[in-house]
Amino acid sequence: MHLGIAFHEKYGLYDFGPGHPFRGKRFEDAMRFFEEQGLLKSSNVSILKPKPAEVEDLMRVHSRSYIDLIFEFAEKNRAYDLDTPVSPSILEGSLHIMGGALRMGEALFSKEVDRGVCLGGGLHHAGADFGGGFCLFNDVAILVRFLQEKKGIKRVLILDYDVHAGNGTSDIFYSDPSVLFISVHQDPKTLFPGTGFIEQIGRGEGRGFNVNLPLPPGTGSTTYFHALREVFVPLASEFKADVILANGGSDPHFADILGGLGLTVHSFFDLSRLIAEVAQRESQGRVVLLVGSGYNPQVLPACWFALTAGFAGWTHIDVADPSEPLIEPPWCQKRVDATVNELKRILSDYWECLR
Ligand SMILES: [Zn+2]
Repeated sequence: MHLGIAFHEKYGLYDFGPGHPFRGKRFEDAMRFFEEQGLLKSSNVSILKPKPAEVEDLMRVHSRSYIDLIFEFAEKNRAYDLDTPVSPSILEGSLHIMGGALRMGEALFSKEVDRGVCLGGGLHHAGADFGGGFCLFNDVAILVRFLQEKKGIKRVLILDYDVHAGNGTSDIFYSDPSVLFISVHQDPKTLFPGTGFIEQIGRGEGRGFNVNLPLPPGTGSTTYFHALREVFVPLASEFKADVILANGGSDPHFADILGGLGLTVHSFFDLSRLIAEVAQRESQGRVVLLVGSGYNPQVLPACWFALTAGFAGWTHIDVADPSEPLIEPPWCQKRVDATVNELKRILSDYWECLR
C-alpha cells in the first residue's frame, strides 16, 4: 500500500496574514512534524509535487465570471470578504493547492499511489460562483469533476468531517445523484456557515444524496464515532462509490480556537483508519483525504500527522494532546441519537440501509 502526499512549498503562500487564523506556516509546521515522527522516511510514503491548476481546471466547477472576479481581486489586493483576503501570492498558493488535488487524481489512477493525502485541501466553503470562509476555489469539487471527466469515474462519496458544514461543496452537488455528500459538523446554529441542517437533503434528482449530520458543541470521540458508524458506514456500503474523498483538518479538535467539537489527536488517527477501511471494503481502496483546516497551531501538526499516519497504514502513534480533553456534556449523546434517528427517518425513502 503506497501513500502519496501532495505538497508544494508554495502552499505557504496561502497565508491571510498576521492576526488571521489561517496562516501559511501551517504547511511547513506539519511537514516538519511528519519528518520528526519518521513518517516521510517510510518506504511506502512519497511526496507528489503539483503544478498550479489552470483556469480550465477551475472551470469544471466554477463559473468563468467568478474566476475572473477572483483574478481581478488578486491583482487589486482586494478582499473577497472580511475573512478572505485575495492577493497575487494568495492566488498563487491557491492554484498550487488546487493543482495538488489534480496531481493526486492522476497518481491514483495511474497506480503511482494507492491512497492520497492532499495537504492544504478541503476548501469546502467555495461554491460554483461564490467564495468565503477562507476559501476561493473548491479543490474537493475540482477533484470530483476531474475524475468524472478524465478518468471515467461515475460515483463519488464525499465525507466532510471539518468542524464547519461544507456549504460550498454541498451547493455544487445539490442536484447531482452521482455524488453522495455527507457532512458531519458542529451544529450550524452555533457556527459558520450557518447552514447544514438535516432537512437539507438535495434537490430534484439529487434528493437523498446530500446528508448533514450536525453535532452539538462538546460532542466527544465516542459519540462522534457512534454517529459516523450509524450514518457514514452504512451509506458507503449501499452507495458503493468508485472513489471516496474525505476532507477536514484539525478544527474538530477540542483545543481548536474556532470549533467546539471534542475530538482528540488520537480520534483523527481512528478517523482516517476508519475511512481507509471503509474505502478498502466498499470502493476498491480508492480514497483521498484533503487536509487543510485547523486554527490552533499547537495541535494542528499532530492532528494532520495522525490523519496521515492512519492512512499510511500505521497501527500505532505516540502523540499526545496538550491537555486532558473536555468532558462531554451529559445530555450530548442523547441529543445526537435523536438527530441520527430523525436523519434516518428523513432519508429512509432514499436509502434501504437507514430504514
Ligand atoms: Zn473548518
